[in-house]
Amino acid sequence: GTLSIAAVLAEAASRRPEAPALHFMDHTITYGALWEQTRAYAGALAARGIGRGSRVAMLVPNVPDFPRVYYAALALGAVVVPVHLLFKAEEIRFVLEDAEADLMVAAAPLLAEAAPAAALAGVPLLTVLTPEGFALDGEPVARLEDEALVAEPIERYASMHPLAAATILYTSGTTGTPKGAVGSHLALVEQVHTWLIDTFTYRPDDVLYGGLPFFHTFGQTVVLNAGFRRGAAIILLPKFDADEALRLLVQHKATVFAGVPTNYAAMVAAANRTPDRPPLRSALSGGASLPTALLEAFEAAFGAPVHEGYGLTETSPVCSFNLESEPIRPGTVGKSIWGVDVAIADPEVEDRIVLLPEPGALGEIVARGHNLMKGYLGRPDATATAVVDGWFRTGDLGTVDEEGVITIVDRKKDMIIRNGYNVYPTEVEAVLSRHPAVSLAAVFGVPHETHGQEVHAAVVPAEGVEADPAELVAYMKEKIAAYKYPRVVHVVEAFPLGPSGKILKRELQRNYGG
Ligand code: ATP
Repeated sequence: GTLSIAAVLAEAASRRPEAPALHFMDHTITYGALWEQTRAYAGALAARGIGRGSRVAMLVPNVPDFPRVYYAALALGAVVVPVHLLFKAEEIRFVLEDAEADLMVAAAPLLAEAAPAAALAGVPLLTVLTPEGFALDGEPVARLEDEALVAEPIERYASMHPLAAATILYTSGTTGTPKGAVGSHLALVEQVHTWLIDTFTYRPDDVLYGGLPFFHTFGQTVVLNAGFRRGAAIILLPKFDADEALRLLVQHKATVFAGVPTNYAAMVAAANRTPDRPPLRSALSGGASLPTALLEAFEAAFGAPVHEGYGLTETSPVCSFNLESEPIRPGTVGKSIWGVDVAIADPEVEDRIVLLPEPGALGEIVARGHNLMKGYLGRPDATATAVVDGWFRTGDLGTVDEEGVITIVDRKKDMIIRNGYNVYPTEVEAVLSRHPAVSLAAVFGVPHETHGQEVHAAVVPAEGVEADPAELVAYMKEKIAAYKYPRVVHVVEAFPLGPSGKILKRELQRNYGG
């Protein structure tokens, strides 16, 4: 058989064309209207020669043009290459060349970086969100909107071989040169169906928070594709701001929130500044470890249970989740979702997979299933290192208990070795987050003459509270073993964040003597 992830929009539009798909600024776009606009965009892309197997890079924030461009390209059978919104010209150029993009669509506010990148890579550029007559350095730019007006809209989406590439998602580069993970239509469709049937059921009248960037796998799969598959409405927020997010959630009566832990910390702070609350029924967290203290603070502020899950760009992304049908186990990432196997392997053995089957054994998390990427684009060596005996090595350390509940201990790369002892930052962060003066903490290693590495922490204080570094060090010394409490605590106003909202520990290390 054939299938296409573009069906999620096309089918929702044919079932309930009048249902709201997107809330953006002060207007609402229905599924019928969104699909019609998408078909017009697809017509314009086709007129530019885009078709099956073409590669369309896009640099577009969470505005209605994101789904239009994304599904237009997919409906033509093209491969979408979403580019990180914070990338500078050189980084964008790298992606355009690495992915051999045939065309780039970029939003007006990002053209200062996108235009030189496209010119250097020799990739044709189309713009969205550009006002009529818009010019860049005196040169008029091509507007996708204009070309869509004169092009013939496509009738229906292309049926694809299940293993045909749908997306190339670049790993965020938190840990090195970005690699393009190639996701198939099957991987994306399978994730969406498993999500809705077995993991977390959206309802057609759900209103989802859509502030997680869609260029990243979390927002793209869990919010955009799964939300559209069920015909729910999505509130678009192009740039995260907690007060604005809360206002929109209240205005549109949001029922489901989805975010990374830094979003949760900011939402709890925002909730301290206003009594207004949306009618949330659940919240979804992933992308980094959610300290239990923060989970509890969010539940207290919003009255909605928080389900934490685990995943990676390479696994499209969801591997495990605190399933809706089971009691939540705070501090864990739940059980593997249907169709995905998660196991623990010996991290020291690199050329093959040696599973550690005893419950609770600590080792490297490995995963397999239809959700796994086809491989890293153009990097057979990196693919062979990552995918061994059909298992994907995640680079994360963790455990699986006798019931199959998974706990992430830390990224292998983030583990600190102090005086020969292993210190797992996530554990230290969870304890530090319990201190009333702390909103969120990041623990990292800094090179040290005699200890090898020293344990440092950076904390963002809780709303309206002063945090005293010396007191926090003393508190931690009380709470955890001598070899792992942070000797140095830095109080910061905000963390350096990556494009998906995750804390950039590399930058903290640089700032504090790494
Ligand atoms: P890069 O790809 O550059 O290394 P990244 O690792 O942040 O950046 P993603 O694919 O966005 O790229 O993130 C996957 C990683 O996020 C996982 O390997 C894991 O370390 C972390 N992660 C995801 N969910 C959780 C969770 N619930 N708890 C702890 N860590 C998590």
